[in-house]
Amino acid sequence: MRKIAIVGSGYVGLVTGTCLAELGHKVVCVDNNKSKIELLKKGQVPIYEPGLEALIRKNTRSKRLSFSTDLAGPTKASEIIFIAVNTPPKPDGSVDLYYVEAVAREIAQNMTSYKLIVDKSTVPVETAERVELTIKRNLKKNVPFDIASNPEFLREGSALDDTFHPDRIVIGVNSPKAEKMLKEIYSTIKAPVLVTDIKSAEIIKHASNSFLALKISFINAVANICEKSGANIVKVAEGMGLDKRIGKAFLNAGIGFGGSCFPKDLSGFLWISKKLGYDFKLLEVVKEINESQKHSFVKKIEDNIWILKDKTIAVLGLSFKPDTDDMRSAPSIDIIKMLVEQGAKVRAYDPVAMKRAKETMPSVYYARDAYDAVKNADCLAVVTEWDAFKRLDYKMIKKLMKSPTIIDGRNLLDPKTIKSLGFVYRAIGGWENSIF
Ligand code: NAD
Repeated sequence: MRKIAIVGSGYVGLVTGTCLAELGHKVVCVDNNKSKIELLKKGQVPIYEPGLEALIRKNTRSKRLSFSTDLAGPTKASEIIFIAVNTPPKPDGSVDLYYVEAVAREIAQNMTSYKLIVDKSTVPVETAERVELTIKRNLKKNVPFDIASNPEFLREGSALDDTFHPDRIVIGVNSPKAEKMLKEIYSTIKAPVLVTDIKSAEIIKHASNSFLALKISFINAVANICEKSGANIVKVAEGMGLDKRIGKAFLNAGIGFGGSCFPKDLSGFLWISKKLGYDFKLLEVVKEINESQKHSFVKKIEDNIWILKDKTIAVLGLSFKPDTDDMRSAPSIDIIKMLVEQGAKVRAYDPVAMKRAKETMPSVYYARDAYDAVKNADCLAVVTEWDAFKRLDYKMIKKLMKSPTIIDGRNLLDPKTIKSLGFVYRAIGGWENSIF
């Protein structure tokens, strides 16, 4: 059992802290957002993540997990401190490391004995070096410490399972002591542990996310060829994915990726590559393809209902992917903006993300449910592939809509069933013409 402090109690910090407590460690999750910590102390969870609330309650009750707005006390009391704060993008694509630096400074000012400081936030290569320097500069007395990089690969929506059953654990260290401590805290998790130098660990995270983003843009580019030639992207992706060297994951064509990680990490990797003297052009194209998918989706709506001004569009799904309420860089934001700019009225529904969506898009009409969203709509746009949308009563939806047109941005619905109900149905990459 180790005493651990997690600084930053967002999607990553909260899940990591809770899971480490469940593994038997004594964990304090720190955040400088007072209302977040107040909620957590009351047993309420500020984010939507399946299973998290129950696990937080269990570990809080057993006193392995606690919450604090104060970093000084937990710094003194813990042996291992994880930095899990946000690393948002700056307008030029670089990564804003202001929060990482602030935490490093505060840790240094409160260190009274050896600490292992682990960077869990996604950061550009060479950040750990900077953190180390920052700590050295701000130490009040000469206390030994180690720096490590332990990038996080969890996915929102399946974050607990991803933490307990990861594909790999990456540990970037420059001392045997740090390696031993990190291996030990994860020792009950059955997963390959890759030990590297710190810079390689930092690059593994950026390169992995950029590669996944590349896979998505690649299949979206192929989807455009399918559309133009009359082929079916779902079958093409299946045929490609059966090749073990390619694999079927991340080959779902659609309106492109969003979220708090892929767009930001892609830009961050591009930026650091340029800074280091390498022009990573491939990643520029990945971004371009991703942007164009949203535009061609809106164009598809337009092609089908013609003039957007004064038309009502029902948007199903707002979060950047299903099973999360995260709206950061969700494609729905750009799509709704384009629709509204052209004078369309939007009636939106999402099973869990509407509260957060209201903060970003206050003027949209937020429907009570999917049926309310489609009332008098000229078109239904499927934007996020929530499983529940597959099971809606589409006979009822047809009755409620002004004109039965569905544009499916995620190839979620079954073309034959939907078309047999009398809908005009368009999807991505020729999926609507599926005959098998
Ligand atoms: P988040 O915005 O949900 O959480 C970050 C938290 O840090 C916030 O609650 C914020 O209040 C807190 N914070 C900021 N400055 C602080 C300070 N000085 N002291 C204490 N708390 C402070 O972010 P997130 O989604 O959890 O992401 C955190 C990091 O993990 C990012 O670098 C991200 O790229 C990376 N990551 C995220 C995911 C994901 O799915 N969300 C997955 C893997 C990696």
